[in-house]
Amino acid sequence: MRGAVMYQAGDVRIEDVPDPTIQEPTDAVIRVTRACICGSDLWPYKSLEANDGARVMGHEAIGVVEEVGADVRAVTIGELVVMPFAFSDGTCMFCQEGLQTECIHGGFFGNPEVPGAQAEAVRVPQADGTIYALPVDEDDALMPSLLTLSDVMGTGHHAAVVARVGRGKSVAVIGDGAVGLCGVIAAKRLGAEQIIIMGRHEDRIALARDFGAAEVVSERGEEAVERVKGLTDGQGVDAVLECVGLDQSMETAVEIARPGGAVGRVGVPQHEATPGAQTSFFKNVTIGGGPAPVRAYIDELLPDILEGRIEPGRVFDRTVDLDGVPEGYRAMNDRESIKVLVKP
Ligand SMILES: [Zn+2]
Repeated sequence: MRGAVMYQAGDVRIEDVPDPTIQEPTDAVIRVTRACICGSDLWPYKSLEANDGARVMGHEAIGVVEEVGADVRAVTIGELVVMPFAFSDGTCMFCQEGLQTECIHGGFFGNPEVPGAQAEAVRVPQADGTIYALPVDEDDALMPSLLTLSDVMGTGHHAAVVARVGRGKSVAVIGDGAVGLCGVIAAKRLGAEQIIIMGRHEDRIALARDFGAAEVVSERGEEAVERVKGLTDGQGVDAVLECVGLDQSMETAVEIARPGGAVGRVGVPQHEATPGAQTSFFKNVTIGGGPAPVRAYIDELLPDILEGRIEPGRVFDRTVDLDGVPEGYRAMNDRESIKVLVKP
């Protein structure tokens, strides 16, 4: 079959790769009907070294189950399913707590050990605990929004949950990428009263406004902090959704949180130590977050998509076939595209 292989920074090629097969009795193989390129795929696109190992990329997909291992019970051949970016057994103590991204038998797609979904098909380990059947046809108009359940919508929601967004709260979302935009949807959905989007790309800001962000802060650093404080009685926001992962964005997150507030971070940290240690300490600010257990959130988010209450699929502004994937990476990396949908 064909897949998108990343060799090193800036080097993505469409090639023939081995067909996925059942390796463990708990595996399934799905034929990928939709995949996409993630903002987090841009980190290796900027920094992967040749000796890190080539890998079939992609950790977000919808597809049709083609084959299942002997121990798979919950999944049927022919079913249309969404695949979260992490696989999980669904039974260990962490899965039972709704923290599937810490599953003791879990892992992630799109690395040298577990090939990813920017391909014609993908092997899904721990199929019973991982994939989730969708009650629609494979070309349903809701496909873009349903695809966000595999990562960005669940991840934005996780940031909001960790930051304790609720009715009447003030919220700042740092980052106007697909996750940040989904964070705005999540904050609105959870009842936030004031939503501030922090970003500087016009098209993304416009979408954030549609999703419920009434205020925009495009400054950075100290100026950004002053602007947010000016919008929030001088004290900062109750909840910060940190959807970038850079040093400066994390520092800003801590500074714009009001005393007793919380920061939910879902941007993969590109730093070792968490910035703002003293500031967050003296303000009693809670910092939490990590890889979102998106599998846990599908039950809650799916009905809102099916019934049209949220439209996270609007973050996709470009669709490519497999041959278009390398160009899709370039376009996202150059900020020409918010998020690229892949129809293999
Ligand atoms: Zn588990």
